[in-house]
Amino acid sequence: MVEVITLGTGGPLPSPDRAGPATLVRSGARSFLVDAGRGVQLRLSAAFGSVTALDAVLLTHLHSDHICDLNDLITTRWIMAFGPSPLTIYGPVGTASLVDRTMAMLADDIGYRIAHHDDLTEGPIVNVIEVTSGVIVDDGEVRIIAAPTDHAPASPSVGYRFEIDGAVIAVAGDTIPCDGLDLLVDGADCYVQTVVREALIRPLGLPRFLDVLDYHSSTVTAAQTAARGGVKHLIFTHPVPAPQPGTEGEWLAEAAEHFAGPVELAVDLFTWSN
Ligand SMILES: [Zn+2]
Ligand SMILES: [Zn+2]
Repeated sequence: MVEVITLGTGGPLPSPDRAGPATLVRSGARSFLVDAGRGVQLRLSAAFGSVTALDAVLLTHLHSDHICDLNDLITTRWIMAFGPSPLTIYGPVGTASLVDRTMAMLADDIGYRIAHHDDLTEGPIVNVIEVTSGVIVDDGEVRIIAAPTDHAPASPSVGYRFEIDGAVIAVAGDTIPCDGLDLLVDGADCYVQTVVREALIRPLGLPRFLDVLDYHSSTVTAAQTAARGGVKHLIFTHPVPAPQPGTEGEWLAEAAEHFAGPVELAVDLFTWSN
């Protein structure tokens, strides 16, 4: 069985119910985390996941809401593993530099803990693999394909396609429809897409909000991507603005005009499984 769990479904604006963007893909002992937004460690624990068991963290892009708790994953894996436990982080070009700077931020804490614990003799080990496109993992159990997405000016950005245990799962970060995204979702059993709702943002008329529209998929364009790719199940995450209770049906109705399959407006810890 494959599970896709939307650990966090929020965006940059704080929400009491939605942690930051993070999606867990797991099957048996294999688990992969896409993005590491606000509160990811809490939600990973709630999903009975362990940071020490993660095969890898895969970042879609380097916007703050998608990476702000990466440091917590690095530290927590380090102190919870009794022995060297390298954390592998895939991400777009720029990820290595981001991780270097994150490690610099953590330097004081790393020093304190090494000074305090005799059995801790070195800091966190992180393997960063910057990706652009193509097969990035293929080990007989899991195949992961990366493809460039379009979230300019937050560039480069990538999305991921998992082929695992007979299922195809596409997890895109923030992006407008593009060729790379079409490649990722082609024939997917499950397609997870961050979305905005134009019908709510457009009338606000505020430039800061209107800017959001030009580099995200909307409920409509994500549904069109899903239809074009012959996707079986579409999952909206990171809805902007956060839906008011009782309005969920409006989001789904917009999608239903363009995509005939099931659509989910995910809340934190929503689980899709095959
Ligand atoms: Zn975002
Ligand atoms: Zn973004």
